[in-house]
Amino acid sequence: MCFHPWSDWTLPLMSLAELRAVIDRWSEISVELGASYSWVQIFENKGAMMGCSNPHPHCQIWASNFLPSEASLEDRTQRKHLSERGVPMLLEYAQLEAERKERIVVENADWLVVVPHWAVWPFQTLLLPRRHVCRLQDLRDGERDSLASILKRLLTKYDNLFQVPFPYSMGWHGAPTGAYLDADCSHWQLHAHYYPPLLRSATVRKFMVGYEMLAQAQRDLTPEQASGSGRGDGRRREKAPGGAGRSAGCSPTHSP
Ligand SMILES: [Zn+2]
Repeated sequence: MCFHPWSDWTLPLMSLAELRAVIDRWSEISVELGASYSWVQIFENKGAMMGCSNPHPHCQIWASNFLPSEASLEDRTQRKHLSERGVPMLLEYAQLEAERKERIVVENADWLVVVPHWAVWPFQTLLLPRRHVCRLQDLRDGERDSLASILKRLLTKYDNLFQVPFPYSMGWHGAPTGAYLDADCSHWQLHAHYYPPLLRSATVRKFMVGYEMLAQAQRDLTPEQASGSGRGDGRRREKAPGGAGRSAGCSPTHSP
């Protein structure tokens, strides 16, 4: 899926209206493919460092008739959390981070971006709605506009960090679809993961090797440091041309 007709453009350079169009198309494709497939994985690999061979701004969407391992793990952990604590895990987590204010990168009335305390990549972030939302297609009109706004702010900060179009892999996770549309998915909370590889500069990246492959991931800076370091002035890119409670959708009776 192409984001923009210009091959040298990137998401943070796009206008809010253009970003909103991307969000709406993500939602439409999620509905279209989700009608028959259990899992619709929207993801973006940005930059040659992440193996992206096509510079045109774009994402990929893969659909499968089974839950991939990451989705399956998140399904189990979120289901367990809701049954034990009576609140969706990532909704409770967003509220906790909003109160602590120690790992927030950007936020607005509807959305929160944090460096999660379990982050293993230096500037890894998690994008969370403040309201209980199961799937992209459940987002309200105003939440889509505020998502466009926070995406632009987050990606501008990433680009400003080392003054380079920031490479990353990102992707959306939400409640499964297909046969799961008839099941109770209220334990799910929509979210997006950002996994950027850069560590100290535009060229010095983190490698998950050695002890990390054989024992466990090591952090080069704390999540609190990373969230603060991510606070660029957010102006350079924004001035560029072109810059201009629980969801009923989670209930089995409410199909998108
Ligand atoms: Zn996830």
